[in-house]
Amino acid sequence: MPTLVRTDDVRRQNTRLVMDSLRRLQRVSRTEIVKQTGLSPATISSITSTLISDGILISQEHIGGLIGRGRPRIILSLRPEVGCIVALMLSMNRLDARLQDYAGQTIAQNHLDFDSKSTPAPELFTQIDRLISELLARRSSHPTMPLRYIAVSVQGAVDVTRQTLLWSPVMADQDINIGEFLAKRFKVEVSVDNDCNLLAKALQWRYPEQFGKHFAAILLSQGIGMGLMLDGRLFMGTRTSGNEFGHMVYKPEGAECHCGQRGCIEAYASEYAIFRRLSTHKHDGAPPAAIDETMMRHFMQQALLQEGEEREAWREAGQAIGYGLRSLFALTDPVPVALVGESAMIASLIEPEIYKILSKPGNNAEAEIKLLWYQDADDMIMQGCALVALQAVDHSTQLTAGVVE
Ligand SMILES: [Zn+2]
Repeated sequence: MPTLVRTDDVRRQNTRLVMDSLRRLQRVSRTEIVKQTGLSPATISSITSTLISDGILISQEHIGGLIGRGRPRIILSLRPEVGCIVALMLSMNRLDARLQDYAGQTIAQNHLDFDSKSTPAPELFTQIDRLISELLARRSSHPTMPLRYIAVSVQGAVDVTRQTLLWSPVMADQDINIGEFLAKRFKVEVSVDNDCNLLAKALQWRYPEQFGKHFAAILLSQGIGMGLMLDGRLFMGTRTSGNEFGHMVYKPEGAECHCGQRGCIEAYASEYAIFRRLSTHKHDGAPPAAIDETMMRHFMQQALLQEGEEREAWREAGQAIGYGLRSLFALTDPVPVALVGESAMIASLIEPEIYKILSKPGNNAEAEIKLLWYQDADDMIMQGCALVALQAVDHSTQLTAGVVE
């Protein structure tokens, strides 16, 4: 039986394409949207006219941008006043928040340092409330701009409804329903995502040529995490955000991990594991509560400079990640891998170890598997978080505009 494609489905898909190219390019002509989306000029004209009359887009004559016969160039952009969003990031001992308008411009941002491990959930809510309220108060120059969505990034596992932080290495409490709290307090839709999934989202957005339908984004920081994109969708577990790459087994019954188990990849490749090994001269022991950043920088410099235990520690980190990727690729086949975090500075030591593990006899892993390194994880996670919020608003504005049934 032939598949029946409904006209409104097609229009919805096309509208998504148009919105995506507007969000990516920000200020763009209809001709450029045609080029970007591959849709016909008539389709683009029809969709953009609807979006303009519904107040989602603004159309401006571009001064100095005259085209054939002296006609001014018309530039389209998203209307900032449609609303604003908050992107909130919870990490070890820190909360970061950013307020953006609908066009994606940052209106205000702030952060708060606190002792996350000793903060119970109700106190965390108070802190978040303070941070977001203070941000919203800075909308004074945009008094009519309503808050439309809050997206939250967390370290740890989230439930599949993307509302509750089930477990996090940065909090002592478990099952923290951040989504429900924020939705009630600020009367908006909320989603809560694992930070590595947001990292994957931002990478795909920034570098669509490298990170398309299939890729893995590994966060190398205090812990080790992964966002896994397969067939254009972020992989989720059956009950949770899943995909605890850092807690896959590297050495059975090996070094103690933050998660309470032993021998995980994270217990060898994370910053705390490397710091533990180099500051105590032991591979095992309770994971350190804090990392001395000055000492860590010194260790890194030593590793880059000469042979020794520092260099060995980062080499073993590469091996642990390499074995993890080998197990992963046995399930998924090889995919491009982004490695993100401060460890990018020491990629020259880690990368050869990963390739060694991934090379099969007669096979050159470097030719088959692409590893790409990026340093600024926090900035990317925040961008992924804001994107989730803005795209959710895109969807709801199309709902109210009658573009979607
Ligand atoms: Zn673990």
